[in-house]
Amino acid sequence: MSKSAKNLLDKVWDTHTVRELPSGQTQLFIGLHLIHEVTSPQAFAMLQALNLPVRFPQRTFATVDHIIPTESQQRPLADSLAEEMLLALEKNTRDNGITLFDPASGKQGIVHVIGPELGLTQPGMTIACGDSHTSTHGAFGAIAIGIGTSQVRDVLATQCLAIERPQVRRIEVTGKLCSGVYAKDVILTIIRELGVKGGIGFAYEYAGPVIEAMTVEERLTVCNMSIEGGARCGYVNPDAVSIEYLRGRQYSPRGAAFERAAKLWRSLASDPDADYADRVEIDGSKLAPVVTWGINPGQSVAVDERLPRLADQPREEQAQLAEAFEYMGLTPGDPLEGTPIDVAFIGSCTNGRISDLREAARVAKTGKVVPGVRALVVPGSQAVARQAEEEGLPEIFRAAGFQWRQAGCSMCLAMNPDKLIGREMAASSSNRNFKGRQGSPTGRTLLMSPAMVAAAALRAKVTDVREIL
Ligand code: SF4
Repeated sequence: MSKSAKNLLDKVWDTHTVRELPSGQTQLFIGLHLIHEVTSPQAFAMLQALNLPVRFPQRTFATVDHIIPTESQQRPLADSLAEEMLLALEKNTRDNGITLFDPASGKQGIVHVIGPELGLTQPGMTIACGDSHTSTHGAFGAIAIGIGTSQVRDVLATQCLAIERPQVRRIEVTGKLCSGVYAKDVILTIIRELGVKGGIGFAYEYAGPVIEAMTVEERLTVCNMSIEGGARCGYVNPDAVSIEYLRGRQYSPRGAAFERAAKLWRSLASDPDADYADRVEIDGSKLAPVVTWGINPGQSVAVDERLPRLADQPREEQAQLAEAFEYMGLTPGDPLEGTPIDVAFIGSCTNGRISDLREAARVAKTGKVVPGVRALVVPGSQAVARQAEEEGLPEIFRAAGFQWRQAGCSMCLAMNPDKLIGREMAASSSNRNFKGRQGSPTGRTLLMSPAMVAAAALRAKVTDVREIL
């Protein structure tokens, strides 16, 4: 390693450091602050109580995603609490001169879907948002950090965060993915291998031939779930793929300014001889479609694998595994393939983009949703919905028996009418399978790629999508 060689995290961190704090944390300048209706109202109230203005309204952008219904977004919203939250966001953004992408704007959607598609997310930025899955934006080579409500207040008031600098683990995915294996399977494998706490204290730098061959949308899926592996953030070095994605987007620089920005963005990529706290290699050619079976995203198996046997697992992990088996109603050692499902959900900030819907539609075309299975397709943004409509995807989904909905978080977190009922089992393209995550305290979630969810809907059971494709 040459003395001046640096990885991307260190380059971005150093250029955004206001000062090192006595606590050992960095006071980090935040280039872009994304807000939504759930974690911002208390932050605005705290700001008001302190009589402080928003420091950089022009660096702050808002959307409505968690509470927005996906059947009818007609105002006033049918749920009065949801309407109240939207009214509060409208007032707070209006009073503070912040741009809001509401349903009437035609640009509304899940915060981690609209940031990239509007060109707000750019390489080398520091990005904060009051949502765990902010790591998504790292797909462009940004350092994107999920924050809590009091930190949302801090960023609104100062455009800065007090935060520890993470170490960097480089994860190289080598080889080439087989047909039917997607970005979702890559990240679920990484989390399975390194554990849901394996990334604590780290930023994950994703690299290697599989990542380099991915589209921006696939990289967004990988970075999205960094947080599920415990990492503070995850990123991919900027390259021609991410830079070309940004060309011509609403908030991207234009003309000569874009070329100047592109030169700067490329220079931020990790130097070839940069140093890392840790390195991991995963052979992408060996991956199969992955499905979670438990109550955290690390509890997963390849679709053609059997569930773990408790006796084969380390003694200290057995109680936790037994709890997961009991909650999920599954039996150690059984095959997961063939497990019956009641609900199929395609959407979320992990897998609600146009390429996800195209892959799911490719599968949906081959059959019909089994009667009794509730199958939802929810575009991640209004722009994704428009693109899908142009390509005739809603017709394909409807003909197969899926419901085609409007943009929002929907059944990922179920802070809106889209919820599991009772002990329903959902095949879901979202990112968390915690107990009760999808709105029912006893509901069960199996995470998988959108194509796998579509396959599960057509057979009413966990199905290897490779058989269909
Ligand atoms: S889709 Fe799910 S994870 Fe993503 S922002 Fe919405 S609720 Fe959070």
